[in-house]
Amino acid sequence: MVRVRIAPSPTGYPHIGTIFQALINYAIAKNAKPQGKFIVRIEDTDRTRFVEGAEEKIYEALDWFNLTEDESPRRRREGDYGPYRQSEKLEIYQERAQWLVDHGKAYYCFCTPEELDTMRKKQQLEGKSPMYNRTCRDLDPKKAAERAKKEPHVIRMRIIYGGAILKIHDDIRGDIEFKKDLIDDQVILKSDEFPTYHLAVVVDDHDMKITHVVRGEEWISSTPKHVLLYQYFGWNPPSFGSVKSGFVVLHTPLLRNPDGSKLSKRHGHAAVSWYKEQGFLPEAILNYLASLVYNYPKGEIFSLGDFVDSFDRTKIHSVGARFDLTKLKWMNGEHIRMMDNKTLKIALADFYKDDLEIIKFLESEESLKILDLAKTRMKTLKDFKNLVIPTKPELSNEEKNVAKTLLENFSKIDSWTKEAILSAMRETLNVHKAKGSVLYKIATGYESGLPLPDSLEILGKEKAIERIKKSSE
Ligand code: GLU
Repeated sequence: MVRVRIAPSPTGYPHIGTIFQALINYAIAKNAKPQGKFIVRIEDTDRTRFVEGAEEKIYEALDWFNLTEDESPRRRREGDYGPYRQSEKLEIYQERAQWLVDHGKAYYCFCTPEELDTMRKKQQLEGKSPMYNRTCRDLDPKKAAERAKKEPHVIRMRIIYGGAILKIHDDIRGDIEFKKDLIDDQVILKSDEFPTYHLAVVVDDHDMKITHVVRGEEWISSTPKHVLLYQYFGWNPPSFGSVKSGFVVLHTPLLRNPDGSKLSKRHGHAAVSWYKEQGFLPEAILNYLASLVYNYPKGEIFSLGDFVDSFDRTKIHSVGARFDLTKLKWMNGEHIRMMDNKTLKIALADFYKDDLEIIKFLESEESLKILDLAKTRMKTLKDFKNLVIPTKPELSNEEKNVAKTLLENFSKIDSWTKEAILSAMRETLNVHKAKGSVLYKIATGYESGLPLPDSLEILGKEKAIERIKKSSE
């Protein structure tokens, strides 16, 4: 059975890149026959970056996007492959690291942080890329084990020479080759006995019976270390990485800004919460994210279900995930227009839950009709307020005169239809040789908005006149 995972670290607010990974993994699991499992593992071993409450925020985001996982720390069941939170598995990592030491695949290292720092600086001066110089690699194992009982130390994996090239298969990128002598003797267990990412990821993917590792391209350079660890443990031996073994590594492109830089936490719109606050719909964001890596065969606008059904992981693009907010906004508007009014009303009520004015408006009789109109102009839920709630404009004397004529013309209307309203508006503009935007300003406080004759018709004569009177006071 296909089993895939995301492995976020609870180090802050959920990143949109995590959702991107979740979407692809979710689609792989749900498209598989029989249907696979989508797992969330919490990589919380870096205690210096740990943020209280960040794990809950990850679940909240997954639920918001409808990408709820099958297994995770919050979804445990009898006989599962947990724990799914790394901090609950420390002993297991320690045992596995010890096993590697006992079998000559890893070694104790006693170099101090100061020594490592000097080493790194020297290498930099010599123009070499920083790597551990392997001072402790050939210590006598028995003596090293004695020292380890008393002295602070880390455990490093022993990159074993032999065969200069290590090849991994990546389902998106094909075969990737690495020179073995450029692979560092990676620390796998830190001096506080916490595992590093490299040990934990291999142990966990093995323990959790993960069949496809699908993650961001920034992990490509770490993969050879992972491949070697698998070999050392005797798990999925030499054919690791080939499709034949069933273990597929798939590195998806990073999300980037239009200028090509990484969409990092420094950018406001890297956070899932930003999209929520700006009134984006989760289904539109997913549509947009999916479109960055995948050409949906039947057009640009599609749902999560469409994506899952048509998904083919071999068709994921390897480059070019540039994030274009304008395009996302357009897609969001399209998704808003696809919503029926009842669903849109619920989404708006949720978005504006603290805004009494909007809540009151949504409860009003005319709101459903206005919704029909507003839908045609909205790109985000945030656009709604300016479209439906007028604000008092600052009118010049000239504009006040226009308002006066408009009022006169409106009061003469017997049958309050949009056609009659339109001709009264035209007449007013003609008299004053004014532009249409003035009428918007008078009637709504904004220079543009919903088609005026239509929205004023819905509002009714009395309320429309009252509104214009107020704005020209
Ligand atoms: N904890 C890593 C991250 O935050 C997971 C990388 C992986 O998927 O192997 O991206």
